[in-house]
Amino acid sequence: MERDAAGGLVCTAAVGPSGATPALPPGAARPGGPIAAALESGRARLVPLEGPVRTLHLTPVHDAGGLVGVLAVGWGWDRVPLPEQVAGALQVLAAEAAVALERANLLHALRAQARRDVLTGLPNRREWDERLAAERARARREGQPFTVALLDLDHFKRYNDLHGHPAGDVVLREAAAAWRGALRVTDLLARWGGEEFALLLPGCRAAEAVLLLDRVRGLTPRGQTCSAGLAEWDGREEADELIARADAALYEAKGGGRDRTVVAGPSVAAPDLRVAVTLAEVPRPRAAAEIRG
Ligand code: GH3
Ligand code: MG
Ligand code: MG
Repeated sequence: MERDAAGGLVCTAAVGPSGATPALPPGAARPGGPIAAALESGRARLVPLEGPVRTLHLTPVHDAGGLVGVLAVGWGWDRVPLPEQVAGALQVLAAEAAVALERANLLHALRAQARRDVLTGLPNRREWDERLAAERARARREGQPFTVALLDLDHFKRYNDLHGHPAGDVVLREAAAAWRGALRVTDLLARWGGEEFALLLPGCRAAEAVLLLDRVRGLTPRGQTCSAGLAEWDGREEADELIARADAALYEAKGGGRDRTVVAGPSVAAPDLRVAVTLAEVPRPRAAAEIRG
């Protein structure tokens, strides 16, 4: 059993004589319950219980920060002392468990950190690349549209020069939070790099995305503006081709005077007759994907 957020214990791995998880009495592991109480001593203990498990031997699992869990062995008859050798073996197992848990927690934290941008707390480029590939696969499978946008703060170098780099960092952080707050949980806003952000809008077509982007851009803090280029997936292009179109649209938005959203022109499809016919006959991208499939 491992510590849960509420301070109780939750069974995270178990095996019974028949392979089934043995049932403990309801509430036995809650904070202040008999198991938690027995663990307060910090030592291995026997606890009598009602139900199919009548005796539980608890060996606390500690790491450097304190109690992290308990190794519990139960049996269906009344309290009998555990042979010393067995209790000793359980101590060794508990120490092993502490190391395994610590390692798993560290790996989990490391994995999460590797996917976050430190300054804004947003997903970073690594997470973006994975999620974009997954969304493209999903859209293809389900015949759904999606749109990506690249956002870039306008004249941000000038802002840094005027107010200092730390003040620029504040703008990045505030912009990330303000924009994120205006999006659906299923939308992905990532820090693409520098003062550029990438937005993935599942199920969203370009026409809808323009309205959303204009609203999001309007939330840019400290009187700053930003430009956006967006591109709707054409139902077949690779992720990097889609991004290249959004990037070209962003470039156009900058050239056109900044503080605006530009929608990318259609992709220049490779000469593929099947696809050309498909695109001409039916609305994209659903039918295109289906017919190809
Ligand atoms: P444009 O409107 O054409 O995008 O002009 P710009 O000045 O925003 O673009 P440019 O690419 O010339 O400069 C980007 C600036 O963004 C320069 C760089 O110092 C700043 N920048 C990039 N990353 C960070 C960061 O993490 N913190 C701060 N404060 N500034 C950053
Ligand atoms: Mg830039
Ligand atoms: Mg910029």
